[in-house]
Amino acid sequence: MDGAPIENGAVMISENRIVDVGQFDQIKKRNAGEIVDLGEQALLPGLINAHCHLDYTCLRGKIPPQKRFPDWIRAINAEKAKLSPKDYLSSINEGFAEAKRFGTTTIANLTAFPDLVPEIHAPIRTWWIAELIDVRAPERANEIVDLAIESLGRARPEPARRGEGAPWGLAPHALFTASKNLYERCEEIARRQNVLLTTHLAESREEMEMFRDASGPLYEFLKSIGRPMDDCGNETPLELFLRALGPPPPGTGSAVASGHALPQWIVAHLNELTESDFELLEKSNMKFHVVHSPRSHDYFKHSRFPFNRLHSLRFSICLGTDSLASNQSLSLFDEMRAFQKEFPGVSPDEILKMTTVNPAMALHQENMIGRIRPGFCADLIAIPCSQGGDLFGEIVGFNGQVDSVMVNGKL
Ligand SMILES: [Zn+2]
Repeated sequence: MDGAPIENGAVMISENRIVDVGQFDQIKKRNAGEIVDLGEQALLPGLINAHCHLDYTCLRGKIPPQKRFPDWIRAINAEKAKLSPKDYLSSINEGFAEAKRFGTTTIANLTAFPDLVPEIHAPIRTWWIAELIDVRAPERANEIVDLAIESLGRARPEPARRGEGAPWGLAPHALFTASKNLYERCEEIARRQNVLLTTHLAESREEMEMFRDASGPLYEFLKSIGRPMDDCGNETPLELFLRALGPPPPGTGSAVASGHALPQWIVAHLNELTESDFELLEKSNMKFHVVHSPRSHDYFKHSRFPFNRLHSLRFSICLGTDSLASNQSLSLFDEMRAFQKEFPGVSPDEILKMTTVNPAMALHQENMIGRIRPGFCADLIAIPCSQGGDLFGEIVGFNGQVDSVMVNGKL
């Protein structure tokens, strides 16, 4: 992901960093050390999952696709009621192991249980993101955020990560489950502490119906549990989201030339955008990172993801697996293949960027991960490939487990 592929290439690793990259003969001349010969394989930067909920790894295959989005919410809530903290711990640990087996070396993982985080040793580079919901207790918004931050603060520090920015974040779950106060509190903290922010936005038709028309099954469901519905009936989810964030504070709005940047926000889904939403995006020139989850999208039968329009508005798009409550595996290769099926016009190297270079930017780690370049973290994977031919096509088409995975310099 850092220039053209190198035939008979080699990468020199020292401790946890890449220190030299080039053709084997030259690398050997310039460096001394142990040699690992991977044979006929393509060496890639480890993949980065930009949106995932390892909490629900144990729900694979448990919830058949439902007709309507709120039915799925009810179904997952019923499954969650059967799980104990111990179940969640093993679910998260199994999820980590599976993600790594499929060549993922970095993950942005949303967890509804930040209090469990201090008990987990993540085997890959992890951004822990506390998923926050205050729909049943909006008066506790600040308290909910503060408790989550306290738990994440107790998480085991990874020594190799010091000095690389805060590896955590906050996720107001969605506009329909998190109050405006909760969003504002998270923004305020993110601005002060430079942490990530992510949320689910404009995912389903039912969410659009709820906010724009004040009707439909999601509207009825949330009304029935006592959510104040006075923000419904006027705006689309995107309009509401952009307005809730207000004007960018001085000094942060210029990160994207001549427009407003929301540099901390990673927005998951964006399946439901109206013509007026696109006009708004074009006019405001607002930019945030977008995550698409092709197989979860397919499971829910959402409206077509507007990849081409978002891409032409210069949004950076990443791929994520979402959780196994709506997906079959934690493989980003499976995700890339599903994306390719959905959008055959997008080139394989562009697709590979969505699991390497683009999510590295979303995590503000574009100078550390997502490429094989001197100075970058030694996060590498190798997959079998034939000589010559369509290399990127072969990578995106790879279907299996990854035998060689290096995380932070360790195989
Ligand atoms: Zn999600």
